[in-house]
Amino acid sequence: MSLQDSRGRPLRDLRISITDRCNFRCTYCMPRENFGAEHEFLAKEEILSYEEMTKVVASLLPLGLSKVRITGGEPLLRRDLHVFIGLLRNLDPALDIALTTNGALLHRHAESLFQSGLSRVTVSLDAVEKDLFRSITDSKNTPEEIFKGIETAQRIGLPVKVNCVVKNGVNESQIVPLTQACIEHKIPVRFIEFMDVGTTNNWNLDSVVSGKEMRQILRNHFGPLEPLSAEHPSDVARLWRLVDGSTVGFIESVTKPFCGDCSRARLSAHGSMYTCLFSEQGFDLKGILRFGADRKEIAQVIQDIWTHREDRYSEQRAQLKEKRQPVEMSFIGG
Ligand code: SAM
Ligand code: SF4
Ligand code: SF4
Repeated sequence: MSLQDSRGRPLRDLRISITDRCNFRCTYCMPRENFGAEHEFLAKEEILSYEEMTKVVASLLPLGLSKVRITGGEPLLRRDLHVFIGLLRNLDPALDIALTTNGALLHRHAESLFQSGLSRVTVSLDAVEKDLFRSITDSKNTPEEIFKGIETAQRIGLPVKVNCVVKNGVNESQIVPLTQACIEHKIPVRFIEFMDVGTTNNWNLDSVVSGKEMRQILRNHFGPLEPLSAEHPSDVARLWRLVDGSTVGFIESVTKPFCGDCSRARLSAHGSMYTCLFSEQGFDLKGILRFGADRKEIAQVIQDIWTHREDRYSEQRAQLKEKRQPVEMSFIGG
């Protein structure tokens, strides 16, 4: 049975934030002034167990779910992630199980995650220049360490993509060298427009570098770019081909919103379901999970949530007058 929301969109993709903690303090996501020593992260008992999250996924499979993305916070900080991957893989051998990570711990975990059934990994990397990388991530790590993780994943056969958020006046200089590094490593790279998620990243329209501007930077260096047609309507990245045949993707959620095909739901670490990245409130699932609801009962609750879904925030952004209080990206998962 396929579930549809009020605009006819199916629920195909579930993003699960498995922790609200992170080993980085990216200035646009978890700025240290808001996520410093004083910040109270979720207590262990508030966070869904792997079994609870698996139950939610199991309840959604009959409704048409085909993809799960594990994210955070930094998902590789949570213990025994390979156990969760194994539980998901046991549910369905065809399920697409992806991971989004900052890559700092990838070289340690890639093998066990792959062996447990992880399908692919997306590594976030906003700079190849060491000092800039350190200032954006507010960490002592280096791009070399991230590439070490990427190379480990590639060596064992785990497909890797790289995502880079571009912020005006911060890292446009990295678009060309990062593309070059990804071509050398044979990794698809996707550049993302900086979004107004959460309330702590001081977003404004001037801080956005549009996909169009990014492509001009690439054209100036690599020559003409050719647009490619999307494989699936729900693909968030639009692909362009460089003269040498390699492709570069752009996720243009600010200047070219794609709400019309959005089939993504999100499950936060503390067990709430969000039907949009810009939701101000979620729907509590932890309560019914801990009350002993079975798969069918969970599916029924999610069906009610999804059939009432009307979200299309990115399409409405420019018209909305009231300031919103969307949930933080590190909490809901990117
Ligand atoms: N820690 C992991 C990582 O960095 O890949 C997973 C969680 S992180 C919240 C997921 C993705 O969201 C990252 O690629 C990050 O760059 C992106 N992100 C965070 N804040 C963003 C924003 N305001 N606009 C666009 N992308 C953002
Ligand atoms: Fe952590 Fe990822 Fe947010 Fe950076 S983008 S602070 S790595 S959760
Ligand atoms: Fe989907 Fe909401 Fe993003 Fe639109 S704004 S694409 S509905 S998550």
